[in-house]
Amino acid sequence: MARAWISIGSNLGDRTANCMLAVSMLSAFARVASVSSAYETEPVGPKDQPDFINCAVEIETSLPPEKLLAELMSIEETLGRVRSGRWRERKIDLDILFYDDLIMNTDALTIPHPRAHLRRFVLGPLAEISPGLVHPVLGATVPELLGILEDGERVVIAAPPSAIFPQKPTGY
Ligand code: ATP
Ligand code: CA
Ligand code: CA
Repeated sequence: MARAWISIGSNLGDRTANCMLAVSMLSAFARVASVSSAYETEPVGPKDQPDFINCAVEIETSLPPEKLLAELMSIEETLGRVRSGRWRERKIDLDILFYDDLIMNTDALTIPHPRAHLRRFVLGPLAEISPGLVHPVLGATVPELLGILEDGERVVIAAPPSAIFPQKPTGY
């Protein structure tokens, strides 16, 4: 079994419900070990779009990384994501942040996610569930990475983890 960390975001429709549905769909191929609070965050990139709800989820899965990505993209499709340009509004986005301490870089998949360490909306939720997690390339923990971020990007807790995952996570 591998352990992976997924970042989920939505800024269209019922944003929290979209994230909740995405997490419940993870259960088809993974054990949900830990779920962060729902954070309201300002968009990165184009600003003329609604704020996001973001969360981070830790899963255990037997799927290899490429298959995990395919499953995440299938969740996006099922929930009706329409691609409207880079970093534009979307009903749902699921990214693989980390997969054990794997480092890989292919056309389709880069792990760790190449922008994870630059984003407060990723690191904030991640620090809540996995403060001891070490970035395998940078060799720093998530709170350490948060500490060196220079931006003042707005990231605030909007709802508890139960709003994203009403069941009990398995923990470890
Ligand atoms: P960003 O990657 O900056 O968060 P985005 O999530 O909006 O932007 P998408 O349009 O959702 O980008 O994805 C573009 C491509 O990124 C996907 O088709 C996928 O193949 C690729 N990709 C590479 N690494 C990853 C990863 N770790 N997790 C998810 N997708 C990835
Ligand atoms: Ca993304
Ligand atoms: Ca994505």
